[in-house]
Amino acid sequence: SLRVAMADHPQGMVNEGDFLVERTPRPAPGPGQALVRVRYLSLDPYMRPMMNPVRSYVEPLKPGQTMPGATVGEVVESNEAALPVGAHVACMLGWQEYGLVTKDSARIVELSAGDISLALHVLGMTGATAHYGLLRLGEPKPGETVVVTAASGAVGSVAGQLAKIKGCRVIGIAGGPEKCRYVTEELGFDACLDHRTDDIERQLAELTPDWVDILFENVGGPTFDAILPRMNDHGRIVLCGNISDYNRDEPYGVKGLSHLLLHRVDVRSFVIADHRDYWPEAIGELAAWVKEGRVRFREDIAKGGLEGAPAAFVNMLTGRNFGKQLIEVAPP
Ligand code: NDP
Repeated sequence: SLRVAMADHPQGMVNEGDFLVERTPRPAPGPGQALVRVRYLSLDPYMRPMMNPVRSYVEPLKPGQTMPGATVGEVVESNEAALPVGAHVACMLGWQEYGLVTKDSARIVELSAGDISLALHVLGMTGATAHYGLLRLGEPKPGETVVVTAASGAVGSVAGQLAKIKGCRVIGIAGGPEKCRYVTEELGFDACLDHRTDDIERQLAELTPDWVDILFENVGGPTFDAILPRMNDHGRIVLCGNISDYNRDEPYGVKGLSHLLLHRVDVRSFVIADHRDYWPEAIGELAAWVKEGRVRFREDIAKGGLEGAPAAFVNMLTGRNFGKQLIEVAPP
C-alpha cells in the first residue's frame, strides 16, 4: 500500500520535496475493523497550516507522519457487520491507498459508485462549511449584497449559490477569466471580479452602491483589504478561511480595523469540525438542491494515483485547480 508522508515542516511555499512517497504493508483488519481501499482523496487547504509546528486547533503534523485527509472508498475485507464488504464509506484515511476503519470512524455513503466523490465536497465537509457559514453565521436576507472570495472553489461556489437561493445579490472574486466566467454563467452569481487583473476596490465600489452586507471570506490578504471599506453598517464577515496566508512564514496582517469599528461589522469565525452535529442537516438540504440542479459543482480530479498528490496539492494552493481538488487514488 502506498502512502504519502510529510518529509519535514515546509518553509514558506510548500513544494513536492516536502513530501515522501513510500510503500508499506497492507494492514489486516482486527476484530471490529474493516479494510478500506481508497478511491478518492480530498486535498484541502487546511492541510498546509497543519504542516507548521505552531499552536492551532489541531495537533501539528510531525515529520514522517502520513498526510491526513478525507477519503471515500470501498470496504474490501471486514470483521464488522456494520461495514460489509462492498460498502462505500467516507472516512479520514489520509494520503494512503488502504487503511483500517471501525464503525465509529467510517460513515456509509448512500451514493452510487459514480457519485461517491460528492461525499468529499458538496455532500460532505466543504458543503457543510458553506451551509453553516453562509446560512447560520451570515444570516442572509433577501436583497442583501454578498461577496464571496475563492468563488469558483469548493466552499465558495456553494456559499454563493446558497446566497442566490436566499435572494441575495452575489459578487464573486476569483483568479482568472475562465473561473470568473464559470462563476457568473454556470453558478449564476451576479458578477465576478478577477483578483489577478481587476482593480477590486474601484470595481467593487461600482458594483455595490448599497454596500456589502455579508463577506464570505476564504482568502484574506490584499483582496480582503480592498473589500473591507465596502462593508455596510452592521455587516457580517463570515471568516471561513485565510488561504493567502497559508504559505507565508509571517501573517499578512489586518489593515482595516477602524472600518470594522466605525461600521460595527461583526466578524464571525468558525471551524466546521466543531459542528459535526450540523452536517447531516446541511448535507440533506444540499443533496436536494443538487438533485434539483439549484446547486452545481465542479470537480478537478487528478488521475494517476497517490504519487500525484503532492503536485496537485501545490497546484491547489496556488489557484491552479478549477473546482474541488480530488485525487483518484484507485480507478473504479
Ligand atoms: P478551493 O477549492 O477554493 O481552492 C483553493 C482556492 O483558493 C484556489 O483555487 C485559489 O482560487 C484560491 N487561492 C489560493 N491561494 C490564494 C492566494 N494566495 N490568494 C488568493 N486566492 C488564493 O478550496 P476550498 O473551497 O476547499 O477552501 C476555500 C477556503 O475555505 C480555504 O481558505 C479553506 O481553508 C477554507 N475552509 C474553511 C473551513 C472551516 O471550517 N472554516 C472548512 C473548509 C475550508 P483563485 O484561483 O480563484 O484565486
